[in-house]
Amino acid sequence: MQGAISALIEQGGLSRDEQGRLSVTPLGQVAARCLLPVHVVAGARDVTDSDAPFDVLLRAVQAGGAAQLGVPGLEAWTARAALDATLAGVPSALLDAGVSPSPEVCCGAALLHGSCHNTDAEVADAFGVYPGAVAALRDATLRIVEAWAAWRPAQLRLRLVAAMLRAQTDLDGATLSLLRGVGPAHLRALRLAGVPNLEALAEADPAGLTASVGAGRADRWVAEARFLVSTLGVIGREPPARPDRAARRYAVGGEVDPVRLVRATFLTVTPAGRGVTVTGGAQAHAVQDDGCDCPDHRRTRLCKHVLAARLAAGDLELRALASSVSAGY
Ligand SMILES: [Zn+2]
Repeated sequence: MQGAISALIEQGGLSRDEQGRLSVTPLGQVAARCLLPVHVVAGARDVTDSDAPFDVLLRAVQAGGAAQLGVPGLEAWTARAALDATLAGVPSALLDAGVSPSPEVCCGAALLHGSCHNTDAEVADAFGVYPGAVAALRDATLRIVEAWAAWRPAQLRLRLVAAMLRAQTDLDGATLSLLRGVGPAHLRALRLAGVPNLEALAEADPAGLTASVGAGRADRWVAEARFLVSTLGVIGREPPARPDRAARRYAVGGEVDPVRLVRATFLTVTPAGRGVTVTGGAQAHAVQDDGCDCPDHRRTRLCKHVLAARLAAGDLELRALASSVSAGY
């Protein structure tokens, strides 16, 4: 008992005053409420608002213990190229600084990062794990990041990364969750209406959004977005990845996501009418003139089907990109 108490005092969950009376610290209260060990919640100590989301994910998987969070072991990774591509292309001050977390921690963060930009099925497919493993890892990590945000409410970055995981969206999209009453469903509605982030909403005409979210919400959210942007400034920007790291962001007629590009190399393209049919994924999709009928295309423009069609059409620049992404495979 004494040992447990001194451990909790050391970890910051309990404190002892001059008279020797014990009290539970705010850190200890959050840990108890969230049913997490104090040392896991204390992992939020190092997070700053300038951390890239990937760095927050790395810290969370590290704090939670990759094995306890159910991160698949390295031998389960059939698609090392997807992992290498993520590690190469993602903005991360920790990786740039040469910090090297264990391979399992990197895998966990890469899976989570992928699931904020793709569906679970796509991530599972690209990384060679079961879709259920992606969902379970996200739920376990979300619990940790939400506890972190509860302990350090002033740290905006933690609220944004929690929103990224909850709504499976990128950092830009997560800024919309700062609006009162905007959960994952409204966030998706706003993005489908062509509003990518809080800044864009602040500049939007509410009349153009009433069809998607209703007049009352459109007026309220645009007003709130204007207020937040004027007080917080630009908050959703990811710091750029350093171009000298092996994994960069590749720009070919827009931003090409390395995970989607790796997936594209496994798809089959057959001519159909004036366009092509792309098969080999969960569903067949029709691509014509860089347009695609999949839901991902509405979000990213460069979905894996459009990329596959361009590869098949002999886009040399994109082919070079694909082989450099898969290098080290
Ligand atoms: Zn598509």
